[in-house]
Amino acid sequence: MGIFIGNHVSSSGGFVEMGKRALKVGGNTFAFFTRNPRGGSAAPIDPEDVKEFLTMAREHGFGRLVAHAPYTMNLCAAKEDIRAFSINMLKDDIKRMEFIPGNYYNFHPGSHVGQGEAEGIRLIAEALKEALEPGISTTVLLETMAGKGSEVGRNFEELAQIMDRLGNPKELGVCFDTCHVWDGGYDIVGDLDGVLKRFDEVIGLERLFAVHINDSKNPLGAHKDRHEKIGQGNIGSEALKRVVNHPALKDKPFILETPCDDDGYTEEIRMIRGWV
Ligand code: FE
Ligand code: FE
Ligand code: ZN
Repeated sequence: MGIFIGNHVSSSGGFVEMGKRALKVGGNTFAFFTRNPRGGSAAPIDPEDVKEFLTMAREHGFGRLVAHAPYTMNLCAAKEDIRAFSINMLKDDIKRMEFIPGNYYNFHPGSHVGQGEAEGIRLIAEALKEALEPGISTTVLLETMAGKGSEVGRNFEELAQIMDRLGNPKELGVCFDTCHVWDGGYDIVGDLDGVLKRFDEVIGLERLFAVHINDSKNPLGAHKDRHEKIGQGNIGSEALKRVVNHPALKDKPFILETPCDDDGYTEEIRMIRGWV
């Protein structure tokens, strides 16, 4: 069946528009912001657009989409009004995701802004408890983070603690970002098997649903989070080739979040397809 790969497309316009952008660069999945990444408001969903998109996705054999929450969402903010705003956004986004059933919604767990990771973990879990309605078809994914600033999710243990607090419901999973885990100190270049074994022990590989495939501008453990084009950073092509071919990962949707224009994405997607 081949690999499901795509990029992060501009979310202006509807689903059909986004699907066309993905096809233009050779993608068969894509990521998009559910609303302005820096703002709060969301465009209304047009059921006709959704219907047309679902047909399009079927015809072109699209894999699951990996929507991305806006960066303004911080479920463990210190200020209560920001937390309330974030939970509302999460609830609304999940409701909107149900228009395209069975896809993924990825978010950055949050930044504890000095409250400490234990409090961050507690607040994120409380927020998810409130927002996750049983029976939804969307899987909500916590992204593995690079650990810059006070980011929660800087290691597998922190993600596991959040999910454990909710009893590991099937509506919850993880999105594995190659730049972030590398920056977080997991050596996916020298020991991918070991990193995934660790993931399996701490979280469980059955909870890994999607991959953000990025190179990194920084060395192992830098905690910086600066993405680089595929093959031009410290992770490199050989290691990323092993990522897309790894039995535990190869069937997941792979999303490029590299600093590319459309020509660059077309080239990266073509190159990665050639690796499989
Ligand atoms: Fe992200
Ligand atoms: Fe990412
Ligand atoms: Zn990043």
